[in-house]
Amino acid sequence: MEKEIICTVCPTGCVMHVVGTETLIESIEGYTCPRGKKYGEYEFLAPVRILTSTVKSNEGRLIPCRSKNPLPKGKVLDCMEVLRGVTVTLPIKRGDVIVADILGTGIDIVATGE
Ligand code: SF4
Repeated sequence: MEKEIICTVCPTGCVMHVVGTETLIESIEGYTCPRGKKYGEYEFLAPVRILTSTVKSNEGRLIPCRSKNPLPKGKVLDCMEVLRGVTVTLPIKRGDVIVADILGTGIDIVATGE
């Protein structure tokens, strides 16, 4: 498979062209520094994203939250679905765990607001 990946490590935004399989990179072109090459490799083989969202509270307010660490990109929508069914009981403070180990990823969803 082939992918065009825009590096987001710095504002230069180099465009990389990566060729390989699900487990192996055969070629990577277009990066201009080692950090960009590493980003392109991760983005090709195991892309991850920080999830930011909101959950309902028992008082009707929406509480902002995010994943404590990046989640596998392929699981983000399923995690959003889990959060859609969550209602937290106030009071809650920044950093409180809202969902521990979401979908068995080992990553917690934490509150980012009170
Ligand atoms: S490859 Fe290097 S220079 Fe290019 S956008 Fe990425 S970090 Fe910036």
